[in-house]
Amino acid sequence: MWMIYLDYSATTPVNKEVLDTFNKVTKDYIGNPNSLHKLGKKTKELIEVSTKQIADLLKVLPEEIIYTSGATESNNLAIKGVAVHYQNRGNHIITTKLEHASVREPIAYLTKKGFKCSYVKLTKEGLIDLKHLESLIRNDTILVSIVAVDSELGLRQPIEEIGKLLKKYPQVIFHVDATQAIGKVKVDFKNVDLISFSAHKFYGLKGIGVLIKKERIQLEPLFHGGLKNQIRSGTPSSPLIVSLAKALRLSMKDLLIKNEHIFNLNKKIKKNFSTFKGLVINNTEESIPHIINISLKNIKPETFIRGLEKHHIYISTKSACSSLKEPSLSVLELTKDQSLALSSLRISLSYLTTELEVERFLNTFVLVFDELNLKKEE
Ligand code: PMP
Repeated sequence: MWMIYLDYSATTPVNKEVLDTFNKVTKDYIGNPNSLHKLGKKTKELIEVSTKQIADLLKVLPEEIIYTSGATESNNLAIKGVAVHYQNRGNHIITTKLEHASVREPIAYLTKKGFKCSYVKLTKEGLIDLKHLESLIRNDTILVSIVAVDSELGLRQPIEEIGKLLKKYPQVIFHVDATQAIGKVKVDFKNVDLISFSAHKFYGLKGIGVLIKKERIQLEPLFHGGLKNQIRSGTPSSPLIVSLAKALRLSMKDLLIKNEHIFNLNKKIKKNFSTFKGLVINNTEESIPHIINISLKNIKPETFIRGLEKHHIYISTKSACSSLKEPSLSVLELTKDQSLALSSLRISLSYLTTELEVERFLNTFVLVFDELNLKKEE
């Protein structure tokens, strides 16, 4: 029986080659990389090769890569790590209303402890207003945290331009949550100090992520108990690290061709959606084609999701980590419309999505849409 998975921004299925690498390393490299014997050394060397590959792909230095359990940990480590280490310099943080909960909540936690937070305005197209950002910078600003591509609307922020602007303020540390960008779009991280991401968003395994920390930045660790001066304690998972390197390399291969395919599918879906009464497309021209965000005026999003699920089609309300009853903060920030923000749905595409899947999805979409609208009228 077929099913159609259109929730790739929540997580992706693991690539078979990546899983094979995981299994092989698990079986063949049993040593702890921190052990002094031959088996430990063998594992350590393998990790070093993978770290170099990741560094080369992202144009950073191998020493700048910290392995974590995923983007949630990377974001927490970046934000709390900066706040604690640099608190004598200042306690002001700048961020956006587009952030994932794993950025939003650590900042909310810090504000309860006395830190101050300002939010950058967005342009009509949903991009960071650079002038407003610059006007928010104060003498006590220590951190700017901005998502490269947000998980709900897929808005792609001008990270390079923001980085150039922030270079004028060397006391300000620039953190980018690149979880929805890595493996989908190219970002130049030259002027970014801290970068977070997770492997499972680009066909890698769940349970591993990265925080890139540029050499000039210091962080207070979240976990203690490892080697001296180690920022992230715990035995490194060699199978997860090596498979992350493989997933990253594969995800960046033929990126233009993959994205053109996704762009064409996106166009087809949006063209079809434009014929529905009561359906609003919330994306702007600045959204990446992988994410389509819509609101249905007369239908509850969870009812619609259940309706599609009966036909084995899987989409999302907002991002997988946010609560159903609350409005989508990103849609609210962009549209200023509470009803759109309360009823948003996300369809997320992959290079694996086929034309046939899109056709079946659109046919089923009409069925469910009509059925639920009729029920409303009864
Ligand atoms: N940031 C963004 C933008 C995300 O989309 C996600 C996952 N939905 C995360 C952070 C957290 O990633 P993880 O669940 O892998 O820790």
